[in-house]
Amino acid sequence: MNAIRAAVDALLRRRIRPVINATGIIVHTNLGRSPLGAPAVRAIADVAAAYCTLEYELDSGSRGGRAAYLEHNLAILCGAEAATAVNNCAAALVLALRHFTAQPPRTQVIVSRGELVQIGGGFRVPEVLEASGATLREVGTTNQTTADDYRRAIGPTTAAVLRVHRSNFYMDGFVSSPTTAELAAITRAAGLPLIEDLGSGAIFDTLTLGGNEKEPTPAESLAADADLVCFSGDKLLGGPQAGILAGRREHVANLKREPLFRALRCDKLLLAALEATVDANLRGDIDGVPIRTMMHSTVEQLRLRANRIVASLAAAGVTAKVVDAEAQVGGGSLPRTVLPSVAIELTCKTRQSIEQLADALRRADPPVIGYVADGKLRLDLRTVFPAQDEALQQAIGAT
Ligand SMILES: *Cc1c(COP(=O)(O)O)cnc(C)c1O
Repeated sequence: MNAIRAAVDALLRRRIRPVINATGIIVHTNLGRSPLGAPAVRAIADVAAAYCTLEYELDSGSRGGRAAYLEHNLAILCGAEAATAVNNCAAALVLALRHFTAQPPRTQVIVSRGELVQIGGGFRVPEVLEASGATLREVGTTNQTTADDYRRAIGPTTAAVLRVHRSNFYMDGFVSSPTTAELAAITRAAGLPLIEDLGSGAIFDTLTLGGNEKEPTPAESLAADADLVCFSGDKLLGGPQAGILAGRREHVANLKREPLFRALRCDKLLLAALEATVDANLRGDIDGVPIRTMMHSTVEQLRLRANRIVASLAAAGVTAKVVDAEAQVGGGSLPRTVLPSVAIELTCKTRQSIEQLADALRRADPPVIGYVADGKLRLDLRTVFPAQDEALQQAIGAT
């Protein structure tokens, strides 16, 4: 009987369930990237449990364009002529590459050797190109690619030039590559499209986070004359998983006519959540986008919460300490930007290993995920919602 119960429990523990993210990594890929804000959650709940105007025009009482409102507002947010969304950024890039390489002999896509990168699990630029039927034409070197490298590579088989943002790593030293504007001048002269995979899709100035890393925004890339940009919906935009495509009206319209677009299209729940997130971003409603709220929390606010939790624990006879910590944006973006943060540091009980302590926290309800630093278990408060403080305290108390 006990063996059966243990097996059932082990199985149930594999379900997707909410956890308390105390890792200090805001966009945590393994923990579901961006948590959705209240407006997005409300939109999903409303649309999920009823019929909705997914493809219905209320004014005329007839069939309407799917995602027309979203596309309108996305275009404004991106400073683009037009925009649309598919299931994720990888899908957006495959769709764009397939579209532009569908007419032989023009099947080559030019990419700098410094941008043939791997992002997270399973996204490798050369493999994505191959999967989309494009032929990769590498130019330049790992650290140096010049405008002339691109110019010389363009020929009768060139279909497009692709720029990929080096999201999750940085190169320093003898490094250079042309700017988007310089590259756009070259592609424009050759009558070719310039596609830019921005990855995280920051729509705010990331320099305001205090590091010195600047993520290009979609609006900046398009203003520099890129023809099409793509980025994820669940990284720095703070919405649901999605791949956003923004740029020239003609290109976006053509992409939507691709048979593959139908296979990659978003469902109503995703569209509802994305719509609400885009609107919150347009309104500048930081509270409607949790990852932005987390980025904006001050160290003083975090310390106040940590002190309160530690004091309550002390009253219950549990020792814990408030320490300075360093949080990260995560999601494969801004690898050098450190957000000063505050963590609760736990000490193991006698004969308890740090692994046992971490395991006990993961068995709490909701599970608490921390990290180990200097042989101690730490729980960073920047990624814990204030509404979870009580549950966090109880989980610590129960270890
Ligand atoms: C994250 C990322 C992707 C993949 O995005 P998904 O939405 O996970 O498909 C692609 N390109 C870059 C540059 C990225 O940073």
